[in-house]
Amino acid sequence: MKRASRLAAAWAACVVLAFVSSTSGAPQGPPAGAPPAASQGQRGAQGPGPGGPPGASQAPATGTRASAAAPVGASLVTVPERTNYVETSLYQDVMAFMRAAAAKAPQTIHLTTFGYSFEGRALPLAVVGAKDATPQAVKATGKPRVYIQANIHAGEVEGKEACLELLRELANGQHAEWVKSTVLLIAPIFNPDGNDRTNLANRGRQNGPIGGMGQRANGQGLDLNRDFMKMESPEARSMAMLMTNYEPHVEVSLHTTDGSLHAYQLTYNSPLHPATAPSIVDADRNGLLPAVTRAIKEKHGWDFYYYGNLPFRGSTERVYTADTDLYTARFEENYVGLRNCLGILSETFSYLPFKDRIAVAKGFVEEIVTYTARNGERIRKAIADASTASIVGKELGVLGRTVRSAQPVQILMGECEEERNPYTGAIMLRRKDVSKPEQMFEAITFEATETSRAPRAYIIPGNLPTRMLQRVLDRLQAHGVKTQKLTSATTVKGEQFKITSTEARAFQNHNTRTLVGEWAAADLTVPEGSVVVPVEQPLGRLVFLLLEPRSNDSLAYWNLFDDDATRDLKAYPVMRTMESVGSSTK
Ligand SMILES: [Zn+2]
Repeated sequence: MKRASRLAAAWAACVVLAFVSSTSGAPQGPPAGAPPAASQGQRGAQGPGPGGPPGASQAPATGTRASAAAPVGASLVTVPERTNYVETSLYQDVMAFMRAAAAKAPQTIHLTTFGYSFEGRALPLAVVGAKDATPQAVKATGKPRVYIQANIHAGEVEGKEACLELLRELANGQHAEWVKSTVLLIAPIFNPDGNDRTNLANRGRQNGPIGGMGQRANGQGLDLNRDFMKMESPEARSMAMLMTNYEPHVEVSLHTTDGSLHAYQLTYNSPLHPATAPSIVDADRNGLLPAVTRAIKEKHGWDFYYYGNLPFRGSTERVYTADTDLYTARFEENYVGLRNCLGILSETFSYLPFKDRIAVAKGFVEEIVTYTARNGERIRKAIADASTASIVGKELGVLGRTVRSAQPVQILMGECEEERNPYTGAIMLRRKDVSKPEQMFEAITFEATETSRAPRAYIIPGNLPTRMLQRVLDRLQAHGVKTQKLTSATTVKGEQFKITSTEARAFQNHNTRTLVGEWAAADLTVPEGSVVVPVEQPLGRLVFLLLEPRSNDSLAYWNLFDDDATRDLKAYPVMRTMESVGSSTK
């Protein structure tokens, strides 16, 4: 089936399957090429039978929720609005709402899907500002593209509801400036499997929704916001495909904080990896984020700032501090930053009531889109500079650490009070309207602690065990990295990495492999079938961090070069060279 018709079928399947899902049992894996059982909720779908009223197929996936009692879909009322903010939308609710919004404004809102969750739910995408939802139509507009993604951690649900409210406003003809000057790619529910595992104990101290929320992990138990380099989830692979196909200029991923009692309604971040193109960091930290922060303060009176924690991991020192691994490429905003996109992490304050968090997340997205609509040239130039500047021969960071500010800065500290979830009796926190300025050092940016010199190309030997070679190539392709296979053997001057020791750490279902050693000059014998990975390509910085052996998100770190045949290897199998190899190194 062609792409367009397959996507149409995925949406149609949501309607059809609502009729059959009450008797169809557990979701089955989709047959090759067929749309999966995308609409089935985890809590026993109770859709009406075929004799139900028109529009009844848009009912929520479960009859066990209060939200299921009210008519839905065509009214464009969200589940929180229908339940006095007690409940959040299930996957089926989101799909129904998006369909209703698109039906109301078919010239404005175009629906498609961009991949699948582990359990086979199609990942919905609303495209606004182009004549249809295809990447071709979107890119043909020449307008800056903003990818808005919610619900990667599926207990952090307000971004999802904010996306739906924005779609309603767009369906009602609001935001003409955005439609004229941007293309919006809106993905309200990136982790639908986690979303529908609603549980009243999830994220217990978060201030609602008190009727329960989803879980952090996806359907296979992975944290999707640690999966962007190793690419083990269909969700992360789908998102990388979206990045490759649509090439958004700006990306915002909507989360909720976990702890710190600061006074900010929302904290954010730009890409933090030291290997990120400077023009991307500059456009974010000296352009978009300060302008959006000022606009938010003016319009709503809210204080937004960079993400940080205080106190930090039991330390008694009052330093506003980023998590030590917050710069790593596996985090989404760093990942997209290394792909030369203005990534933005958004963390709504956990202890604001659910209703307020929706408003805050929505306000942030509104100002990001408005800024993008008015500053398309600046954003485009930053990305062009990042994409065209060669990194070959340059020293780039592979590992990093936080940098403490030279002077104390003003951090706004807040207060919370305890209240009980009436249904569980568990204590949750509620933000008090208190903001106490405090002068302290901050450590929220990163510097390289170790660098390496980017080569012209990496070479993956063709004589690796077949399965290993195939899975390495699969991952590179999943990222959209360009490679070239050599059809004949050759020799080239370059370097091999001599391993002196390896370190293992249990992390994210892996025993990660950190290689200790150094690159050494060598006359490289390159066998037939070897694969050249040029660094001089738009994803060059990503290539560097995937294949540099000291990177803490390399394919070696994530065990892709481990197997029985090579467990005792003395040399990292990937070679690197400053010479041209094959034809694709330019
Ligand atoms: Zn999160």
